[in-house]
Amino acid sequence: MTRTSGGIDALRTAMTGTVLVPGDPEYDEARTVWNGDIDRYPAVVARCTGAPDVAAAIAYAESAGLEVAVRGGAHGYWGAAVPEGGMMIDLSLLNGVVVDPDARLARCGGGATLADLDAATQQHGLAVTGGTISHTGVGGLTLGGGMGWLTRKCGLTIDNLVSAEVVLADGRRVRASESQEPDLFWALRGGGGNFGVVTEFEFRLYEVGPVVHLGLFFYDLDRAADALRLGRDVLGGLPRDAGGMLVALNAPPAPFVPQEHHFAPGVAVLVAGFAGEGAHDALIAPVRERLVPLFELVTPIPYTELQKMLDDAAPWGIRNYTKALMLDELTDEAIDVVAGRLPEKVSPMTIVPIFPLGGAYADVGDDDTAFGGSRSARWAFNMDAIAPDAETLAADRVWVRSLWDDMRPFARDSGSYVNFMAEYEEDRVLASYGAAKYARLAAVKAEYDPGNVLHLNANIKPS
Ligand SMILES: Cc1cc2nc3c(=O)[nH]c(=O)nc-3n(C[C@H](O)[C@H](O)[C@H](O)COP(=O)(O)OP(=O)(O)OC[C@H]3O[C@@H](n4cnc5c(N)ncnc54)[C@H](O)[C@@H]3O)c2cc1C
Repeated sequence: MTRTSGGIDALRTAMTGTVLVPGDPEYDEARTVWNGDIDRYPAVVARCTGAPDVAAAIAYAESAGLEVAVRGGAHGYWGAAVPEGGMMIDLSLLNGVVVDPDARLARCGGGATLADLDAATQQHGLAVTGGTISHTGVGGLTLGGGMGWLTRKCGLTIDNLVSAEVVLADGRRVRASESQEPDLFWALRGGGGNFGVVTEFEFRLYEVGPVVHLGLFFYDLDRAADALRLGRDVLGGLPRDAGGMLVALNAPPAPFVPQEHHFAPGVAVLVAGFAGEGAHDALIAPVRERLVPLFELVTPIPYTELQKMLDDAAPWGIRNYTKALMLDELTDEAIDVVAGRLPEKVSPMTIVPIFPLGGAYADVGDDDTAFGGSRSARWAFNMDAIAPDAETLAADRVWVRSLWDDMRPFARDSGSYVNFMAEYEEDRVLASYGAAKYARLAAVKAEYDPGNVLHLNANIKPS
């Protein structure tokens, strides 16, 4: 392990990558994270180019008494990637992706974005489950679980993790897989950034696209409850070769939206088909038969474009506050609550995306990975306050919190998918994992990071 006990110049000498401190030209850009509501000033940003740089940065932080945060794609809702006055280990330069099409495997740097991963894998007509906004980081998304259009076909992103190269808190570099460091490998799959800094992920890939099929059906707010019921019935019964999203939103000013409906509030039912045009047409026919949409978009679409389709709904620098629940069922009563509260949201950007689970997601046992959500849950129910200014965000933060309170009785517990939390609520981290899984995670934490060096995350305290 590289020890750097001198000043910042010693760290600069020890690292191949760049070291930034306040006043350096690139410092402000480097400390900026996706959520524009976060404005913190780290003492040091270490832009790492590989595992030795990460080890040097951790060692420096230890010697200088700095808290350590890790930046993958900088999309963590509460800005865990950027510590006030601490060491920001910035992995954004580690964004390379190497694909082995014959073995159907991809190796991806710990700071890659989903767009980086998709672009490389789609050159071979391959993909692995990612999120629905392409500028999100593979790092944080994977370590918490990772759900998106492919969840029902391929499971969570972690269900397809084959191995990971990890720099531990003591600077050691290890590879974790089913056969190497198996406890660490288990904990990495859902336990977040608690156990080490992942400099490389290795994923199993599937044949997807390169052209897939989209069906988007938009309904006005007056029919929100009917549209949510329709979406529940259609998306809840999708075959594995299709994905979906049910989302309350305002219609974007996109070319496919008739001008008179730009910014109209309502509900969209989205179906992504991965089994060809005929199968897709059969899936979406019942949607418009049951409820005629205000407008629709049914089209073939490159998978990489599907992955980017919602990017503008959550651009860099926007302000956000998010809460979520895992639901076993989306009952009529729950739907009536959501529909009744939608007219009260203030920001046109605020959305309620509801992800259907099931399919390959449910093939994996609750204890097979450290994922903080039940595999029998059928819906990830998300409430996303999104606003361009602090005042509007404040209003919708109140709205999200009160909708969460209203929806809580429909969930088994107050637990969530840890990646869908905008503040670190210790009791909810515990509730998400459940006591037994949390205890197992705490034991792994005690083995791999007994000093809780990596604590700026959905923190698991070492047992
Ligand atoms: C606009 C938006 C859309 C999203 N959509 C989805 C979605 O569709 N599906 C979904 O599952 N999630 C989604 N998420 C949630 C997302 O998975 C989390 O916010 C995730 O933490 C983002 O990872 P990141 O690397 O970009 O973030 P960062 O802020 O860089 O990191 C978040 C946490 O992960 C840790 N971390 C990141 N990379 C590493 C690494 N290589 N090694 C060790 N620790 C690391 C950090 O320490 C930090 O605690 C979305 C988030 C946003 C903001």
